[in-house]
Amino acid sequence: MSASQSDSLATPERAAELRENLLEVQQRVQQAAPSGRTPTLIAVSKYKPASDIQALYEAGQREFGENYAQELEDKAAVLPADIRWHFIGTLQSNKAKGLASIRNLTCIQTLTSMKAATALNRAVPADRTTPINVLLQVNTSGEDAKSGIEPLTPESASDAELVKLARHVISECPRLRLLGLMTIGSLSESLSSAEKPNEDFERLKQTRDLLQDTLGKDSSLTRKWGEDGRLVLSMGMSKDFEAAIRAGSDYVRVGTSIFGSRPPKGSATASG
Ligand SMILES: *Cc1c(COP(=O)(O)O)cnc(C)c1O
Repeated sequence: MSASQSDSLATPERAAELRENLLEVQQRVQQAAPSGRTPTLIAVSKYKPASDIQALYEAGQREFGENYAQELEDKAAVLPADIRWHFIGTLQSNKAKGLASIRNLTCIQTLTSMKAATALNRAVPADRTTPINVLLQVNTSGEDAKSGIEPLTPESASDAELVKLARHVISECPRLRLLGLMTIGSLSESLSSAEKPNEDFERLKQTRDLLQDTLGKDSSLTRKWGEDGRLVLSMGMSKDFEAAIRAGSDYVRVGTSIFGSRPPKGSATASG
């Protein structure tokens, strides 16, 4: 992505289209939300030019999600400093340094290993005043192609991988803050009938409840986690964000419904 003048502004037509799409998605989010709660809408801008993001910023949007570390670094460098960036792509330990150096990176939603947590924690600049929020990615659909940690069940041992990673972040990674859980879910689920509960969403909620319970009982954990003592959920994309909100999602990640379709994945491997 280039930051040259020629592509730094969206055409008036494109800006109007993005504004309309944003407004429509915002209204749908609000309508699906239970009263008293406003889920956070993250505009997923992967492969989209900085000019699109700038246009949405001018329409009031502040939360944006990106999948590729280099693309995120490039965009963050040329876009307003009060954008709150969420990293939602596959996390590689060797990208930790670049990511952690982005001042306005607010959240990494795809943490799946202690190794990456340790690398990230170490990479956060010493003068950063707030921890980077992290969500642990859970593979709720059990598909091999999806990254993520196995969900918890009532039968899970207290040393299940997810519990171990959560404890590691809380106890060993002071520059990170464990905020909650994220799932991508399976496409077939998202296309299933509106009346049937979405199994991915139900599984993430159950996992959250069990993890919250386990952590809450652990008196060795002296640092705070979650938001007001509650782990948040990031679930729901363009095809299923309203169902996700009705199921209790706190963060929805919406790309296509705001920006329009993306070029096919091609050589780069998109997360999910
Ligand atoms: C691309 C992506 C999204 C947005 O998907 P849309 O279907 O375009 O809304 C959300 N979450 C993740 C992890 C993604 O990779």
